[in-house]
Amino acid sequence: MSENIVEKINSILPQTQCGQCNYSGCKPYAIAITKGKADINQCPPGGEEGIQNIAKLLGVDFKPLNKKHGLTKPKSVAFIDEYACIGCTLCILACPVDAILGATKKMHTIIEDECTGCELCLSPCPVNCIEMLPVKEDNNKISIQNKSNLARSRYEFRLDRIKRERKESNATRKLQTSTSEKSKLINEKRKSISEALARIKKNES
Ligand code: SF4
Ligand code: SF4
Ligand code: SF4
Repeated sequence: MSENIVEKINSILPQTQCGQCNYSGCKPYAIAITKGKADINQCPPGGEEGIQNIAKLLGVDFKPLNKKHGLTKPKSVAFIDEYACIGCTLCILACPVDAILGATKKMHTIIEDECTGCELCLSPCPVNCIEMLPVKEDNNKISIQNKSNLARSRYEFRLDRIKRERKESNATRKLQTSTSEKSKLINEKRKSISEALARIKKNES
């Protein structure tokens, strides 16, 4: 598999990271296309233009969007009704690009410029306080290409962060294991010292 082709396909994909293509993100879908495991028409956010560009790159025929994967919708961003938010943090866990700010039991808010409109935060919200609002062209502060680059780097940063956190929590677990082993050893030593002291006392009496 050529990494170069994967990168070229990935750079055509819109970086919404929504998973509608049946892959966990745009890059895994690009890899699947390169391996011949996925078709070129499975990305609704990329629409017909995206399919045209991938077909051109790979020198294959264009085919219309496979509607099984959804329809191409106008760009939108998520909006949280902060008064209704109960601060459960479930939306933060679902967001593939870390576009939601908040903490446990604190109201949450969305960084509009970083939201890709993937809708993945909607269904986990237990109080339905997130809605999608259309992006108005004149409100679109950054260009679509810049937005897609930003989404891609935030998605990759998030994957790195999750990897790093997993590593750190494994290391902490190891540390906790070795801490509990240490306290086991200390207890064993304490026991043998007090047994030795008891023996000495007995011999002296
Ligand atoms: S935008 Fe969504 S459907 Fe399109 S490739 Fe990326 S993850 Fe898949
Ligand atoms: S805030 Fe919601 S819609 Fe926006 S990128 Fe994150 S999960 Fe997707
Ligand atoms: S999932 Fe809904 S209620 Fe929970 S923190 Fe996010 S917006 Fe608030």
